[in-house]
Amino acid sequence: EATIERIAAGEVVERPASAVKELVENSLDADASRVRVVVEAGGTDGIRVTDDGRGMSAEAVERAVEKHTTSKIADIDDLEAGVGSLGFRGEALAAIGAVSRLTIRTKPRGANRGTELRMAGGEIESVKPAGCPEGTTVEVDDLFYNVPARRKYLKQDATEFTHVNRVATGYALSNPEVALALEHDGREVFSTTGQGSLEATVLAVYGRDVATAMLPIGARAESGADDADEAAIEAGGPLDELSGIVSHPETTRASPEYCSVFVNGRYVSATAVRDAIVAAYGSQLAPDRYPFAVLFLSLPADQIDVNVHPRKREVRFADEAGVRDQVRTAVESALMREGV
Ligand code: ADP
Ligand code: MG
Repeated sequence: EATIERIAAGEVVERPASAVKELVENSLDADASRVRVVVEAGGTDGIRVTDDGRGMSAEAVERAVEKHTTSKIADIDDLEAGVGSLGFRGEALAAIGAVSRLTIRTKPRGANRGTELRMAGGEIESVKPAGCPEGTTVEVDDLFYNVPARRKYLKQDATEFTHVNRVATGYALSNPEVALALEHDGREVFSTTGQGSLEATVLAVYGRDVATAMLPIGARAESGADDADEAAIEAGGPLDELSGIVSHPETTRASPEYCSVFVNGRYVSATAVRDAIVAAYGSQLAPDRYPFAVLFLSLPADQIDVNVHPRKREVRFADEAGVRDQVRTAVESALMREGV
C-alpha cells in the first residue's frame, strides 16, 4: 500500500514546482496577506513557504496531513471550470508528505503557542508545541528521497527553478493584494508589495523596463475606454470580461512564457489566447518574439471544456474562435489607442 500511495503522491507532486503551487494555494486559502517562497537548488534541495494566514491548531495540523481531509469536499466551480485540481482536493499536503521530509510550524491567529509537526515518507514522526509566529511555515526537504525513480527524473536545478518561478509569478500577478516574495539560493528573485495594483506587481516581478512598456487593455481601460474596447467585450462573444496589460511591441522575449493568462481567476495555459495576443501585433512582432501580457478572462463555466486531468494547466474553450476574436480585438485596440 505504501508503494501505491507513493506512486499516487508522485502524480500530485510531479516536481518541486507542483509542491510550491499547492503550498502557495494553501497560504492564499488561509487568507494570508504575505507569502514567502524560499527554494534551494530549484526546489530540489528544499522548499519553504511561509505565510501570515490563519494558521492551524495542533489537532488541525494533524488532520491536515491525513489523506482526504479536505475543507472543500466539492469545489464544483473548479470542476466545471476544468482548471482546478478537484481530484486531489484535500490530498496535497498528504501527498507532499508521502514523498519528502515535511515540517510544518503553525500558530493560529491570537493563540499563545504554536505546533511543530514532522513527517517523513508519509509517517508522522512528532507533533509538539513550538514557539513560532502566527501563520504557517511548511518546509519540504529531500523531495522524492524515497522515490528514486522520480528523483532521477528531475531536471537540472535551473530548469526546475524556471517552473517554480513561473508558478510563483502566476500567483503574484493574479493576487496583487498579497505581498508575495520568491527567494532562490539565498537571492531574492522578486518581492511584490501587496498594494493591490497589477502595474505595481508587474514592476516588482518583471522590472522597470517592462513595467513602463505595458499598455492597459479591455475593461481596465474603462475610464478612457473607446468604442473599440466596448465592442470587444460586447460583441456577443463568449467572454464576459477581459482585462489586463500587454507590452509595447518593442518589449518582447524569445519565449511565450511571459504571456500569462488567467481564466476565471485561475492561472492557465491557453494556446488559443496566446495565439490571439500574438496575432494582434501582426507584423510589428519579429518572428519568434512574444510580448509580455497579463490577461484576465472571465466567461461562463459552461464555455470552458472540462479537462479531466487535474494536473494539466491547458484549458480549451467551447467557442475558441469567439475567444480568439475578442482577445485579438481588445489587444489590437489597446495597441491602436497608444498609437502603436
Ligand atoms: P486542501 O487545500 O484541498 O483542503 P491540502 O492537503 O492542501 O488540502 O490542505 C489540507 C488542509 O490543511 C487545508 O484544508 C487547510 O485546512 C490546512 N492548511 C494547509 N495549509 C495551510 C496553511 N498554510 N494555513 C492554514 N491552514 C492550512
Ligand atoms: Mg490545498
